[in-house]
Amino acid sequence: MVSASSQSVRLAASNFGHRGLFSLILLAGLPAWSATLDEVTERGFRHTTLDQALVAKATARANKVLATTGIRFVPTWQMKANEQGGAGSVPLYLVDSAKEATTPAAVPEGCHCVFVNPRFLARWATFNSTGAARMMIDRDYFLTFVLLHEAGHIHDGTSAGAFKDGEMSQLNVDPSKAKTEERQADEFAANLLRQRANATPANDSSIAANFVVNELTKLGWNMQAFRTLDEFGSFSVGRPSVFFDDGYSHPNMALRILRTNNLIQRSPETQLLLDAFEEARERGANAKRLHAPR
Ligand SMILES: [Zn+2]
Repeated sequence: MVSASSQSVRLAASNFGHRGLFSLILLAGLPAWSATLDEVTERGFRHTTLDQALVAKATARANKVLATTGIRFVPTWQMKANEQGGAGSVPLYLVDSAKEATTPAAVPEGCHCVFVNPRFLARWATFNSTGAARMMIDRDYFLTFVLLHEAGHIHDGTSAGAFKDGEMSQLNVDPSKAKTEERQADEFAANLLRQRANATPANDSSIAANFVVNELTKLGWNMQAFRTLDEFGSFSVGRPSVFFDDGYSHPNMALRILRTNNLIQRSPETQLLLDAFEEARERGANAKRLHAPR
C-alpha cells in the first residue's frame, strides 16, 4: 500500500526542477524514514493505553492456545524499539478513533498485524452482559476468542477490509466473500479450542482453552436470553432484526457464537440450538401470516 504521505512526497519530487538530484536525496533518506511509518496513525486511528494490562493477559492466553501454530501475537507496547518480534509474530496495536467502531478487533488490509479497540470491547461486553438472566461476560476471556479468530485471518491470509480515516470499511470486500472468510476464521478458532480443551493430560494450553470455551458458553446463554426475554415472540416469526445478518457483510453474531459452540462441543444440544436459530431465519425469510386472514 502506498501511503498518502509518501504519495505527497513523490508528488513534490515530480514538481521539483532538479528531479534526479532530489530523488537521490530522497532515496538516501528513505529507509530510516519508511521504518518510522506508523500502521495506526497511517489509517487515521490513534494509539491508546486503555486496558493495556487486560489485553496483555488475553494476548498471553491466546498465545498459549496458539502454541505450535506458528502464530504469536506481540503487544507493541511490550516490544523494544526496532524489535521485529521474530518469525510468526504478529504485532498487536491498541487503537481508538473518533469514528464509530464495528468490531473489537481486526486484521487491517495491508498489515501483518492486528488492531484491538478496547473501548468498543468494553461497551460490547457490557451490552451483552446487561438484562434479565444474563451472566457477566469477562471481556478478557472473550477477547482471547476474538484474537484466535484474528489468528484465523492471519492463517488464511484474509483481512477485515481496508481501514481508512479511523473507520473500518468493508466496501471493497465482496459481501459473500467477507462472510465466508469470517466463517473460516471462526472455524480456525473453534477447531483449535476443541483440540486444546480436550488435550490430556491438562496443561497450560488446555486450561486456557477451557476458560475461553466456558466464556463462549456464557455468551451463548446471554444471547439466548436476549432472544427469549427481550425479544419475546421474535423466534416464532424469525424477526429480521434478531435473526438476520447485521449489515450486508457481517454475519449475525449470535449465529456465529452458536456455530462456534457447536463446532467445539459437537453435542446434540448445541446442534439443536443452532438448528432452531437457522429455522427461525428461514421463517423470517419466508414471512407468512401468523393467522389466516378473516
Ligand atoms: Zn473476522
